Amino acid sequence: MQANIIPLSFEYPVSATQAGRLLKLQRDILEKVALGINYQQILDDLCKAAESMVEGAVASVMVFDASGEFLTVLAAPSIPSKAIAALNGLIPGEQAGSCGTAVYSGKAQFVINTKTDRRWCNLQKIVTDFGVGACWSHPVKIEQDKAIGSFALSSFEERTPSVFYKQLLETGAHIVGIIIKRQQEEQALWDLAHYDALTGLANRTLFNERFASTLKNALTNEQHLALLMLDLDGFKDINDTQGHDIGDLVLQQVADNVQRVLGVVEVFARLGGDEFVVLLCYSGDKAVVAQLAEKIVSLFQQKINVAGCAFALSTSIGVSLFPEDGQSTQVLLRNADTAMYAAKKSGRNCARFYSADLTRTVRERMELIADMRLALLKQEFVLHYQPQYCQLSNALVGIEALVRWQHPEKGLIPPNIFIPVAEDSGFIKELGLWVFTEACRQCLQWWASGIPHFSLAINLSVKQLNAANIQQFQSVLEGLDFPIQWLELEVTESLVMQQGSLDELKKLEALGIRIAMDDFGTGHSSLAQLKHLPISKLKIDRSFVQDLSTDVSDRVIAKSIIAMGHSLGLKIVAEGVETKVQQDYLVQHGCDIIQGYLLSQPLSPAQFVELFFGD
Ligand code: C2E
Ligand code: CA
Ligand code: CA
Repeated sequence: MQANIIPLSFEYPVSATQAGRLLKLQRDILEKVALGINYQQILDDLCKAAESMVEGAVASVMVFDASGEFLTVLAAPSIPSKAIAALNGLIPGEQAGSCGTAVYSGKAQFVINTKTDRRWCNLQKIVTDFGVGACWSHPVKIEQDKAIGSFALSSFEERTPSVFYKQLLETGAHIVGIIIKRQQEEQALWDLAHYDALTGLANRTLFNERFASTLKNALTNEQHLALLMLDLDGFKDINDTQGHDIGDLVLQQVADNVQRVLGVVEVFARLGGDEFVVLLCYSGDKAVVAQLAEKIVSLFQQKINVAGCAFALSTSIGVSLFPEDGQSTQVLLRNADTAMYAAKKSGRNCARFYSADLTRTVRERMELIADMRLALLKQEFVLHYQPQYCQLSNALVGIEALVRWQHPEKGLIPPNIFIPVAEDSGFIKELGLWVFTEACRQCLQWWASGIPHFSLAINLSVKQLNAANIQQFQSVLEGLDFPIQWLELEVTESLVMQQGSLDELKKLEALGIRIAMDDFGTGHSSLAQLKHLPISKLKIDRSFVQDLSTDVSDRVIAKSIIAMGHSLGLKIVAEGVETKVQQDYLVQHGCDIIQGYLLSQPLSPAQFVELFFGD
């Protein structure tokens, strides 16, 4: 980069003594650059040094502003602020004073009399207001052809520059070029370290810096701060199934969309992955923060269009407030995280404010996870098996394995207490593998003891539907030599409808494993979608079975699920059948298999054996 700087040409024939003075000026200023003195100070020093060499003149540096259209005064330590204000906003052109013309033409402009020179004809107000008599300006360049600013000397009288002065301007402009170039490079390095390359948002480093300084200000000025922690729901699926390139585009889109809703805030940063954070000062009216959070959540009602595809995403937001939820960056971050987690727990796609209760919930949850891991080691999990009966033959045609936790103090804990936590802590992978292995082992033992074959249904959670788990199932089946045709996996409708699970389901099907769609009717899948899925059974959700005797619409739903399933060649199971009325209605409309308390509760292994060998 440094090589790009145009060398100083010494265009004007100055004497050796004069050249020596100019080189000393250059050396003195560049020494300050090397010492790391701030650039504004150095530019001011340069102006003053030049002024000391040209009696009665004032020096100024102008550069383009951020828009790249106007010039603004960067340094002019001896020019009154009113004059600076008048100069700011100068647009380069053919008659834009000395500086605007120098920048426009890329050539030095030596205006000897501002009152008569055409180049100043548009700036006569400045001439009269501030008494400018002459102005000599040299363009500042860091690359060969484009001027980025100017270095100028102005006097109150009409004045012709000597050769030395001309060379001084060239030297000064050259030094300004070096300083600006250096500043730009440092800025670029700083940006690299503080901004997220993907979204252009602040990164974690910059966020931490801003958070610390904002908090410090808020403490002294008694301001209110809100910290919003955003985590996208379902982003990982997009990344896994569509690839990282698409994932990246989605993140960029999300960042843009959220930025638009936010307007001006203290900082909006991407902390990494699909995690974003917003810090803002607010009036103390919590409702304002709640509205903003809701606005962000509802942004996601619109699908994200990327590369010709529309992706449905949502976000969960946790909010912590200063001063009430914490006084340090760490505590505020942790509490926002806790709230965000609570938002995920309560069904995602929503925002939650932190409360002290949440911390207790989180602690209990963490204890539960630790306890579960131990419980697996201590063999406290047990399986119960609920029979499924064929409505035609009344024969037991299948069983569903249902896990329970035989807790030494709390007794038998039902799965709905611990399965959801096992699912989102990842523990389900280990637990699920145990369930799978144990259920297969148990059935093999029963069949070996003379009990006739029936199919074994095992529940699968969304976290288990991946290549690694399927591989593990396969080796269990091979290790036990389990007859695969008797195995059935129950997956929920919402799981099946998720992007990416289709491939895994097809892998299972290819292994010869049948898939039953659990809790059917709750997940809004269409007939068209069902047709393409590798499933062989539909289980009508208990909620529709429950009110069959009283609710007409549930009767219609159950009836049409049966008819529709049959038209697709699927077997229909009704679960949660508790009364004879329910059973009769289902059987009357052709339901194939019945499962529920009416026929049998889930049974312990001992109770199950009793069915066959008891008296
Ligand atoms: P599910 O797959 O829908 O299982 C059926 C649930 O309905 C079982 O509850 C069963 O005991 C209950 N049930 C059966 N018949 C009746 C009835 O006539 N009336 C009523 N009110 N309930 C009935 P359970 O065993 O408490 O299991 C609850 C859920 O826990 C299961 O729902 C399943 O989603 C999950 N689960 C159980 N075991 C496992 C497992 O090994 N792995 C996974 N991933 N999830 C499991
Ligand atoms: Ca099930
Ligand atoms: Ca079910």
